[in-house]
Amino acid sequence: MNFTLPEGWSGRTLSAARAKLLGWFDRHRRDLPWRADRDPYRIWVSEVMLQQTTVAAVVPYFTRFLAAFPSVGVLAAADEQQVLKLWEGLGYYRRARHLLAAAKRLVADHPDGLPDDPAVWAALPGVGRYILGAVLSQAFDRRLPIVEANSLRVLARLFGYPGDPREGEGKAWVWAAAGAVLPAKRAGDFNQALMELGALVCTPTAPRCGECPLKAWCVANRDGLQDVIPPPKKPKDIVAVNEVGVVVRDGGHILLCQRPADAARWQNMWEVPHAAVREDESLTEAAVRVAKELTGLDVDPGDERLTVKHGVTRFSITMACVEAVLRAGGFTPGYYAAGRWVTPAELADYPVSSPQRKLMTALAKPAAQRRLF
Ligand code: SF4
Repeated sequence: MNFTLPEGWSGRTLSAARAKLLGWFDRHRRDLPWRADRDPYRIWVSEVMLQQTTVAAVVPYFTRFLAAFPSVGVLAAADEQQVLKLWEGLGYYRRARHLLAAAKRLVADHPDGLPDDPAVWAALPGVGRYILGAVLSQAFDRRLPIVEANSLRVLARLFGYPGDPREGEGKAWVWAAAGAVLPAKRAGDFNQALMELGALVCTPTAPRCGECPLKAWCVANRDGLQDVIPPPKKPKDIVAVNEVGVVVRDGGHILLCQRPADAARWQNMWEVPHAAVREDESLTEAAVRVAKELTGLDVDPGDERLTVKHGVTRFSITMACVEAVLRAGGFTPGYYAAGRWVTPAELADYPVSSPQRKLMTALAKPAAQRRLF
């Protein structure tokens, strides 16, 4: 799609707006750990982490990850469980697995350093148009655009785009706009400046237009359309699900199960067996059935001891955790790839999802051990 400047804009306006935004970025950019240099590896890791995640949440994860894997070579040699463990709590774990797979490929194919060739990056797992533009523009000053939630909002307001820039034609428009506004030099800084402006000034609600370097040219500011551009996201239809989580104990050990590599989410991570409770069964009946169906074990259920609530995509899940004691049988792989009997103290060593971590943190406390069993 071709991008056309809105009425009242000219090439000179665009040049002035670029210069103003870059000047603002030079004065106001946040001092973030991945901005210390232009190392493509550090920028790549940060951009992968920042997808769907806030800067504040990413900073400690980035610091720990870089301490463990200071170079792409060290990452490429890492074990997936180690990578998942360091990613635990950030969510969207497919990002971590893709990052590891891409690191292995880059190190094998480009032993002399990370390349600046867009075609190489575009062929890597987990590298979409955003990551490609973000890494190559910031590390190598390639003139490639990026679009994410913050820059999308700034561009839509600046040029007064009336549709939804998140989908269909609007999506094509915003990518074309992001490409058209890029200056010939400092493309990486300009991309970051757009995102930074969206994060700090052109916020979703109550943007601070009085402090904005683009206020003189912004169509939304001129016409008072900040509240309707971009249009609000359609709310998701939330589905409530009641689950049972079965904490199976054999002596001083608890059963942990590894999710399969092709699971819909949390692939290769660990958990206590859990599944939805059917309408026609009690919680304890569900615990017995779920343990048998998912692990092959016969268990004697105890009481419900803990409830963990969490949201996943459009599902609002309430997981009631039931203690159970192993009566008969051995773990059978099938639904799960593997099963291990671990002590409560060892639970911390395994990569698990956030709701499972809540449960396991509770299980690992001595007081909870006494209360649970
Ligand atoms: S003037 Fe206001 S609406 Fe326009 S880009 Fe700046 S902060 Fe956003």
